[in-house]
Amino acid sequence: MTHGSGTLPLMAIYGGIDLGGTKIQAAIVDEDSDHEVLGAKRDQTPLKGGPKAIAARMAEVLKEAADDAGVKIDKLAGVGVGSPGGVDDAKGTVTGANNLSEWTGSFNLRKALEKELDTPVSLGNDVDLATDAEFQIGAARKYDSLLGVFWGTGVGGGVILNKEPWNGRGTAGEIGHMVVRVNGAQCGCGRRGCMEAYAGRGSMEARARRRVEAGDKTVLFEIMEERKRDRLSSGIWERALARDDQMAIELLEEAVEALGAGVASAVNLLDPEAVVVGGGLGIRLGDHWVKKIRKAMLPHLFVDDDPPAVLLAELGDLGGAHGGALLAARKANA
Ligand SMILES: [Zn+2]
Repeated sequence: MTHGSGTLPLMAIYGGIDLGGTKIQAAIVDEDSDHEVLGAKRDQTPLKGGPKAIAARMAEVLKEAADDAGVKIDKLAGVGVGSPGGVDDAKGTVTGANNLSEWTGSFNLRKALEKELDTPVSLGNDVDLATDAEFQIGAARKYDSLLGVFWGTGVGGGVILNKEPWNGRGTAGEIGHMVVRVNGAQCGCGRRGCMEAYAGRGSMEARARRRVEAGDKTVLFEIMEERKRDRLSSGIWERALARDDQMAIELLEEAVEALGAGVASAVNLLDPEAVVVGGGLGIRLGDHWVKKIRKAMLPHLFVDDDPPAVLLAELGDLGGAHGGALLAARKANA
């Protein structure tokens, strides 16, 4: 899976795009030179205009990243895209990406991007690509098995066993929907008691709003207004923590408890060598909170005297884009 097999094309510079519900992150990566990031750019994901507007913005952000890198777009050997929703790389389509605005049906994202970029475009699942990147070149590169946990708006999961991604029948890794409390809190998926219902940023925001309606005090929404945002982004949670906001602390501690139970249960089942914690909140809150998650896992681990390594994602916000570039390089060298 790694490069250096002697079959590299002359050009070894690839583009990677991580498409999220909030942000589009693009990077230009030299896969011949230790995965060096030559340029990167991020922008908000358009909330209007549907898939066409989103694809157009993705192409723009990649072009800006190429400008940043001083690389002409026609020098890219390929571009890889990590997307939420149902990704079909054979067809080039992304279907029903619920957390992208107006993206309900199927859209040929490859066709739209190839038209703009004039280079081969490969598609993958966003969480799978971010997990692959941490496995190949990030925090878990010395291990053969990995559980990736992406703590953000939702809680995504990626599984690598015996150096190979495990996708089950196509949808494995939905760690956010591990049940941590039977008949527990309502989850965005419509079920109850999922880990994500306590730990997902979306659920945490809903819980905060309900507590405010019930009369509890918090600076969370003041900071949101100060920052001219319309939702409680990871940065807002971080700022509220820095101001010792009691509600933010309580909701984050609750999230950590849920993550501890859910991730430990997955570890009991799979026994991976490493757990890597990434995602918007994971990256923002950093090592200190990853240590808290590790501590919250311990009481739930069946084999509690030999826990796996629990590590902060090393590639930060660029993990998904790195995964895209790695995918494009794999495709080009296949
Ligand atoms: Zn759920």
